[in-house]
Amino acid sequence: MDIAVVGSNNVDLITYIDRMPKEGETIEAPEFEMGCGGKGANQAVAASRLGATVRMVTRVGNDIFAANTVKNFDDNGIDTEWVLETTGSSGVAPIFVDRESNNSIIIVKGANGLLSPQDVADAGDAIGECKLLVLQLEIPLETVYAAIDLAVERGVPVLLNPAPADTRLDPEYVAKCTYFVPNETELSLLAGKDLETIEEITEAGKKILAESKLENIIVTLGSRGSLWLTETDEVLIDSTVVEAVDSTGAGDAFIGCFATRIVKGDSVPDALMTASRYAANSVTKRGTQYSYATAEEFENWAP
Ligand code: ADP
Repeated sequence: MDIAVVGSNNVDLITYIDRMPKEGETIEAPEFEMGCGGKGANQAVAASRLGATVRMVTRVGNDIFAANTVKNFDDNGIDTEWVLETTGSSGVAPIFVDRESNNSIIIVKGANGLLSPQDVADAGDAIGECKLLVLQLEIPLETVYAAIDLAVERGVPVLLNPAPADTRLDPEYVAKCTYFVPNETELSLLAGKDLETIEEITEAGKKILAESKLENIIVTLGSRGSLWLTETDEVLIDSTVVEAVDSTGAGDAFIGCFATRIVKGDSVPDALMTASRYAANSVTKRGTQYSYATAEEFENWAP
């Protein structure tokens, strides 16, 4: 098995509306769509579509959304042995998108909030046999920490995507990872100040590197590309120029692809260049997982 993702899954309930309703008002929506999401699941799907073998360690509720999520993992060839069921709600995200593409999102953590350190311990062998562990912050922090400790103990490198941003993230655990992949907003929050220029971002990243044994920080910068920082190097990878349609889930596409290229043996800069193209491809299409190309589609894509 190439990649273990210990993380979240969600069902997105996307309602397209002409305008946001006022308090107490009922309005009709012209369109509704259900999609699979959650940062963990998104990254797993991108990686699997690109040819990595992926195992998902996650929790679903005992509701109708759970079956939908498991089917989606199955359809995408993801190993579901460690998709555990919880009494109660699955993770769901009611999303409202108006005509100007403004959105309001409510995240119900549901079962994602119940993925526990014990679950990680139970899945220890299943995680330990993977070449890379991929983590985000949509599950309890103590579960993220337990997964990092387990991976370190078993010699599995860890990629941590600190999203959504959480100021409580313990730098000692960041230091144990091999790849730390924040976007610019998440890095700003961890640095405790606004970071805008590449110089400011580089300085903040280098400070985290200097204070830890962490080897690589990769900062994603939206249409500005991504920045790879090590103790000795700083490399800016330009984004691929595309006509952007919907950048939702671009970061997850980037990480799923980067993780895949790393386990396939690419160097970090090569993996980053491919991830940058893959994320750009996802930006040309509407939706999150809907916009993730398969290996074949990606190979035949010429931006
Ligand atoms: P997140 O989705 O976490 O906010 P970013 O917005 O930084 O992540 O996007 C992740 C990566 O996706 C970027 O580093 C870049 O390579 C690519 N990307 C994002 N937006 C665009 C865009 N408009 N055009 C081309 N590439 C993009």
